[in-house]
Amino acid sequence: MIDGLTKLGCWGMKIPQEYGGLGLSQINYNRAVALVASYCGSTAVWLSAHQSIGVPQPLKLFGTEAQKKKYFPMFAKGAVSAFALTEPGVGSDPAQMTVTAVPSADGKNWTINGIKLWCTNGLVADVLCVMARTPSKMMNGREKKQITAFIVEKGTPGIEYVSRCDFMGIRGIQNGVINFNNVVVPSENILWGEGLGLKLALITLNTGRLTLPAASAAMSKQALHIAKLWGKERVQWGAPVGKHEPGAVKIANMAASTFAQEAATYYTSALVDQGGSDIRMEAAMAKLFCSVASWKIVDDLMQLRGGRGYETASSLRRRGEKGYAVERMMRDSRINRIIEGTDEIQHLFIAREALDKHMSTAGEMLNPKAPVGVKLKALLNSILFYPFWYIRLWLPTGFWPRYGSYGSLGKHMRYIERTSRRLGRSLFHQMIKFGPKLDRRQMILGRLVEIGTELFAMSTSIAKVIVLEKQNPKDKGPRELADLFCRQARLRIHSYFAGIGCNTDKADSRVAAKVLENEFEWLEKGIIIDDGLGFQVKK
Ligand SMILES: Cc1cc2nc3c(=O)[nH]c(=O)nc-3n(C[C@H](O)[C@H](O)[C@H](O)COP(=O)(O)OP(=O)(O)OC[C@H]3O[C@@H](n4cnc5c(N)ncnc54)[C@H](O)[C@@H]3O)c2cc1C
Repeated sequence: MIDGLTKLGCWGMKIPQEYGGLGLSQINYNRAVALVASYCGSTAVWLSAHQSIGVPQPLKLFGTEAQKKKYFPMFAKGAVSAFALTEPGVGSDPAQMTVTAVPSADGKNWTINGIKLWCTNGLVADVLCVMARTPSKMMNGREKKQITAFIVEKGTPGIEYVSRCDFMGIRGIQNGVINFNNVVVPSENILWGEGLGLKLALITLNTGRLTLPAASAAMSKQALHIAKLWGKERVQWGAPVGKHEPGAVKIANMAASTFAQEAATYYTSALVDQGGSDIRMEAAMAKLFCSVASWKIVDDLMQLRGGRGYETASSLRRRGEKGYAVERMMRDSRINRIIEGTDEIQHLFIAREALDKHMSTAGEMLNPKAPVGVKLKALLNSILFYPFWYIRLWLPTGFWPRYGSYGSLGKHMRYIERTSRRLGRSLFHQMIKFGPKLDRRQMILGRLVEIGTELFAMSTSIAKVIVLEKQNPKDKGPRELADLFCRQARLRIHSYFAGIGCNTDKADSRVAAKVLENEFEWLEKGIIIDDGLGFQVKK
């Protein structure tokens, strides 16, 4: 299979044609990976770890001409790469990494030491992109930690493959623990520049992250296909399971959600191809929305398939039935909510971006440690900015008879407009209420982010309808799907807003703290435990 992918030039899909690659746009690259992902999550991850986050992407963005000339043709011919960021003690917070790279006295080489965990493709990769801590710099009397990205070639002495990791799903990947033991790399293998590694990783992930929503949407399409066939074929209690109301709701949600996932993914991919746009928010929202939505779809599909959903494809085939791999789809898709930024980290990332303008305008006013002069400056900024901004958010323009050209979807456009304003106001109100502590009210922020994400998916869905209707004005199917998605999203948004004022967040935190302090240990009585000390019955 890997040879087949090489023959097709798949390892060079994103590499410019002048270096021997296929030079695909972001949209077409995503379409290619989506095609693969619709059938096999593992194969999609091979391609994506290499091209979405592995060496080709940062090389394209930040490589020198000499680096591009050396490595791009290799990849175009089938060399595979990997991205080594995570460490045993460092997952969501890569700034704390411990793998080090120390320069030689003449500055010509760097020596890398330390362990990288869960490096996908790492065990077979010809080239690795390795992030390492390089000597800190002093700036304004303070230590500034430096992280630098290095291109490391396979076979460099000191690289030790410690263990292959196996997972719940995507079992066809080559993922492992790699020990770097005095691995010497030349200075010309630094990507972008000394100290720019973390920024490089984050920028690489901004676009790299778009492959996951494309893969999620494709898997959702596969789920829809299976649900359609099974929903008609399986008859129980006198009717096909797809016609019993709970089955129908699942199938309808699959169709509407799949449409919305594609819309969010390809809208953002188009922004990348167009160039000049800051797509951080859109990419993070597309990733968050699609990975969660597709997980729900697979869960619903498993329910619709009943016992057959839980049975493996090979077992089904052995019994002479169609081998729909729903069980594998479920195992494969769960990881999408963890890799390339977990759900929780996407919430934080999006919330911080949304708060950025407020923090730069008024943040210091709320900071008890800020000197009086700085506070006064923030106060002046706020006086100049907020009155106009805040009044604008109350203007009832979302009710004006606008968006007539959207026809039946105009009402959703008006809802998006007025709800965006309400979201802006709510964020501002929460900022006033909690001040700098809002950062720690992650459940509140999470709800606000989910509202923004739903609004984003609604607007991209409607935009997709307009494009499709231009191509085929008679087909009203896209409009029906977008309308259903928008109506469902509005219900979810309603409950998120309600949850901002009325929730159990504080009680949850209190109970969780007590669980962590062992106060509810009695609840664990009567189970068999194995905490590495041998089996015991908890008493
Ligand atoms: C199959 C697989 C493939 C992978 N491939 C690669 C790869 O190719 N290269 C690579 O470098 N890495 C790779 N990873 C690592 C992956 O990116 C990390 O698993 C991911 O970043 C999360 O880190 P963690 O697992 O250490 O979780 P942790 O960071 O330990 O987080 C545990 C939980 O706590 C939550 N959490 C953490 N911090 C916060 C916070 N501040 N606020 C709220 N909640 C928080 C998280 O959301 C999560 O739910 C891979 C992992 C797997 C399982």
